[in-house]
Amino acid sequence: MNENIIELSYLVAAVLFIVGLKKLTRPRSAVLGNQLSAIGMLIAVVVTLLHQSILSYEWIVAGMLLGGAVGALMARSVKMTSMPQMVALLNGFGGGASLFVALANVWDPATGTSTIALVSVGATLLIGAVTLSGSMVAFAKLEGLISGKAIAVPGNTALNGLLVAAGVGLATAFVFSPQLVFIYALLAVSLILGLTLVLPIGGADMPVVIALLNSYSGLAAATAGFITGNTVLIISGSLVGASGLILTEIMCKAMNRSLRNVLFGVMGAVSEAVDEDAIYQGKVKSTSPEELAMLLDGAERVVIVPGYGMAMAQAQHAVRELANALEANGSDVKYAIHPVAGRMPGHMNVVLAEAEVPYEQLVEMDEINPQFSQTDVVIVIGANDVTNPLAREDKGCPIYGMPILNVDKARTVVVIKRSLSSGFAGLPNPLFAMDNTLMLYGDGKAMIIELTASLKEEASARAA
Ligand code: NDP
Repeated sequence: MNENIIELSYLVAAVLFIVGLKKLTRPRSAVLGNQLSAIGMLIAVVVTLLHQSILSYEWIVAGMLLGGAVGALMARSVKMTSMPQMVALLNGFGGGASLFVALANVWDPATGTSTIALVSVGATLLIGAVTLSGSMVAFAKLEGLISGKAIAVPGNTALNGLLVAAGVGLATAFVFSPQLVFIYALLAVSLILGLTLVLPIGGADMPVVIALLNSYSGLAAATAGFITGNTVLIISGSLVGASGLILTEIMCKAMNRSLRNVLFGVMGAVSEAVDEDAIYQGKVKSTSPEELAMLLDGAERVVIVPGYGMAMAQAQHAVRELANALEANGSDVKYAIHPVAGRMPGHMNVVLAEAEVPYEQLVEMDEINPQFSQTDVVIVIGANDVTNPLAREDKGCPIYGMPILNVDKARTVVVIKRSLSSGFAGLPNPLFAMDNTLMLYGDGKAMIIELTASLKEEASARAA
C-alpha cells in the first residue's frame, strides 16, 4: 500500500480516537465515542496489516486466532463481579505486548539499530516490564490471591530509587553498546521494580496505582511505536498514557495524596491496629426490611450510597426498583458516588448504568456532601471504606485524610451488608456504631428486594 495512503489513514484513525475520547466524557455520547474509537482502531489495524514491510501473514493469523480465542473465552467466562481484576490483568498484558515488541526488535538483527530505535527499546522494556509485573500484583490483590493491604518491602523507597537508577543505567548502556546482557539485566531489574512499586501500596490507595499502571501501559505502547516507526501506535499510546495520568490525578485528589507520593511509593503505610470491640461493643443496632420500610415511607429525601458490595451482590437492578418505588411514594432519590467506590475507576457508574439508572441522579462526592444534613435516610449498600469516619478523625489510620461521603450527617443511616466485617482497607467502621445508624444484615440484593416489597405493602396499606 502507498506510504501516503497509510499515513493518511493513520491520521484519520488518530482523529477518530481523539473525537471518540472527547465523546466519552459525556454519558449520552459515550456509546458513539466508543464506536468511533473502535472504527479508528479497525482502520489502524487493517492499514498496518497491508503495510509492505509485512512479508508473510502466517504468524500474524496464528496470533490473531489464538489471542482471539483466549480473549473470547475469557470474555464469556469472566463474572461481572470480577471485572476489576480482569481490567488489571489486561493492563498488564498491554505492557507485556510492548515488552515483546522490544524483545523481538533486539532478537531480530534485521530490525532498526538507529539511536531512536535503541532508546525506544530500552524505554519500552523498562516501562513495559514494570507495567506487566506491577499489574500482576494489582491483579493478585484484587483477586484476593495475596493480601489487599500494603505489604511491607524493607527500605522500599531507597530500593525503588536504586532499581530506577539501575534500569536507566542499563538502558543507557544498551544504547551505547547494544548487547543482550544489558537487555536481560534491564528486564530483570524492571520486573522486580514493578513488584517493589506495587506491593507496598495497599488498601485504599490501590485506585491510584491502578490508574498509574494504566498510564504506564499507554506509555509503553507509545515507545513501542517509536521502535516500529508506527505513527498511530505512538499517538494511541500517548493518548492512553495521558488519559491514564489525568485519571491518576483524579484518583490522587480523591485520596488526598500527591502524585509524588505515588511515584515514590511512600504511601499506604501499614495500618496500626484499631480496636474493633471498643468501637462496636453494645452500640450497634440492627433493623429489618419491614421496620426500614416504615422509616422510608415517610422520607422526603433519600440518598443511596453504592459500594463494592452492591456490585458483588449484583444488586443494581434491585436498587433501581427500590428507587422507583421510593419515587412513586413521593421521595426524592439521589445516588452518592465516591470516586474510589468499588474496585476500579468508575465502577459504580458502570454498574448503575447497566441498570439504566438515570445519570442525572448520580451525584459526585463534593456536590452531595453538603446535602447529607438535609437528607432523611441514607441507604449505604455494600459501601464501607468510602463512608468511614476514621478517615476524618484518626491520624494514625492508613486512610486518614481521604475525603469520605459524610453520610453520618444525615438524620438516619441504614447500612446494608452481611456482617460487621471490614472493607478493602481492612479497618473497622465507627459509622456502624453511631446513634443514627441502623444495620440491615444480609446479601445486598436479597435485602433490597425484601425492602422494596415491604415498602410497596406499606404504601398500599396506607392508601387503603
Ligand atoms: P469496601 O471494600 O470498603 O467495602 C465493601 C463492603 O461490601 C464490605 O465491607 C462487605 O461487607 C460488603 N459486601 C460484600 N459483598 C456483599 C454482598 N453480597 N451484599 C452486601 N454487602 C456486601 O467498598 P467501598 O466501595 O466502600 O470502598 C472501595 C475500597 O476499595 C476503597 O478502599 C478503595 O480504595 C479500594 N479500591 C478501589 C479501587 C477503585 O479503583 N475504585 C481499586 C482498588 C481498591 P460484608 O462482608 O459484611 O458483607
